[in-house]
Amino acid sequence: MERRTYDHLVIGAGSAGCVVAARLAQAGRRVALIEAGPLEEQNEDILNLGRWPELIGGPLDYDFAIEPQPRGNSAFRHPRGRVLGGTGSLNTCIAFIPADGDFQRWVAAGGVGWSAAEVAPHYERVLATLGLELADLDNPLSAAFVSAAEAAGLPRVDFAGAKMQPGVGPAPFNRQGDRRRSTAIAYLLPLSRWSGGAHLHILPERPVLRLLFEGDRAIGVATHAGEIFAEGAIILCAGAFHTPQLLLLSGIGPADELQALGIRPYLDLPGVGENLQDHPETTIGWQTKRPPPPNAIRVWEVVLFAALDEGLAPQLMMHMGPNLVDGYARQAGFPSAEWGFSVTPNVMQAQSRGRVSLRSADPAAAPKIDFRYFQDGGRDEAVLVDGLRLAREIAAQEPLREWIDRELFPGPKWQSDAALSRYARQVSASVYHPVGSCRLGLSVEEGAVVDPQLRLHGLANLYVADASVFPLHVGVNPNLTVAMIGERCAEWVLGGVP
Ligand SMILES: Cc1cc2nc3c(=O)[nH]c(=O)nc-3n(C[C@H](O)[C@H](O)[C@H](O)COP(=O)(O)OP(=O)(O)OC[C@H]3O[C@@H](n4cnc5c(N)ncnc54)[C@H](O)[C@@H]3O)c2cc1C
Repeated sequence: MERRTYDHLVIGAGSAGCVVAARLAQAGRRVALIEAGPLEEQNEDILNLGRWPELIGGPLDYDFAIEPQPRGNSAFRHPRGRVLGGTGSLNTCIAFIPADGDFQRWVAAGGVGWSAAEVAPHYERVLATLGLELADLDNPLSAAFVSAAEAAGLPRVDFAGAKMQPGVGPAPFNRQGDRRRSTAIAYLLPLSRWSGGAHLHILPERPVLRLLFEGDRAIGVATHAGEIFAEGAIILCAGAFHTPQLLLLSGIGPADELQALGIRPYLDLPGVGENLQDHPETTIGWQTKRPPPPNAIRVWEVVLFAALDEGLAPQLMMHMGPNLVDGYARQAGFPSAEWGFSVTPNVMQAQSRGRVSLRSADPAAAPKIDFRYFQDGGRDEAVLVDGLRLAREIAAQEPLREWIDRELFPGPKWQSDAALSRYARQVSASVYHPVGSCRLGLSVEEGAVVDPQLRLHGLANLYVADASVFPLHVGVNPNLTVAMIGERCAEWVLGGVP
């Protein structure tokens, strides 16, 4: 059995974990980056962004089922990467920085030190490392969608700096041509012996079973291959589902629930697993009169952000690509076609709150994931209904109208708010952006799990840095924000006294 000691352990080599581990190693700290999945650094299905659909549901995807959703679709799965790079190795690389207002909301929710001005330098570092590229819109159907959205009154915007703006335009990506630029690829793999690589041990295929504690310190982790210890900070980066799962398995969470599962509570922290948020989405699709030219990278090429009421910040996001994505609509009995395109309206600031909890004390069991989609008194579904109507309005404008043969799903018969809401929820899915299940904040009583500098409330040297710490969702695709959190966490670990 191995028994090793490092300065730091980083648990989970995903979008955030790769950033944290690279920055600590570059600063000369001895780091173990412990990852449940394999390395796969030569895997073309990962490196070539156009092959991302091949990864979904495969051996590198945890492929989580969700609990039955009384007011939404329960039949879809939540992909999560089980591989170096984590979910950043199977995502579609759309790269956005949220509006400043999102960070005002974080500060108001107890995120002291998280104003837009304070996070800006860390986004700059992320962008300088990952690089950005805009979709080129050489696909005439995507270009027609942008022009039609302009004709419907939306401003055409340039997302070159990745900042969210109300309007429509080609999406920014962390990619180079068809090559993915995940944090694993951009931060970790280039580390040489001289630039930090010598200080970094990547330990793949070592799922952490639980954390080990002594007094008010985390001292190491248990794996099937033995225990691994740290003299300094331990940073948990296992993502929005696994970070709460691992804390709960280690005895950190609501004490009564842990006891009921036979887990001895170490720290009663009721917020662990609560506050789960997502971007719920629905879909609308049209058959075209002729096949659109293929979209080699098979990603959503156009992004749209819209305010539903004048004077308000955008509440609606849409992705559009020149492909017919009709899986859930077909499952629900709606017609399909050989060719066409789809648009996916989704809710930027969903009000529904879900929960991650344990099914059992067995670390190999999947956690119980209940999003409680559309259980917020009707606000989230109303955004989707408005999104379906706006998508139709855009489809009625030239030059897009000229492409369209017919609306396939839901179809022109579906018009009333009630009918559109029923449809939107029936075929609903997710943009796969779970966040918030170990939120940052000042007060444990208000559900905070980590303090604003990402240290677990009650344990001196245990940090959490990943999508789980968002106190509130951001109104954009979250991957750049997760990487930004990794940058900030590394800075605090290096500057702080663990
Ligand atoms: C299909 C899909 C498309 C997406 N597209 C986009 C997009 O275009 N743009 C965007 O911004 N966002 C996108 N996202 C979301 C984005 O990729 C995630 O928000 C982000 O990757 C989350 O990063 P993370 O560091 O929190 O977790 P992850 O990247 O999931 O990393 C967690 C890591 O921890 C490891 N781990 C878990 N448990 C353990 C354990 N017990 N021991 C050791 N290791 C463990 C996992 O194997 C994984 O490698 C997409 C997501 C999906 C699923």
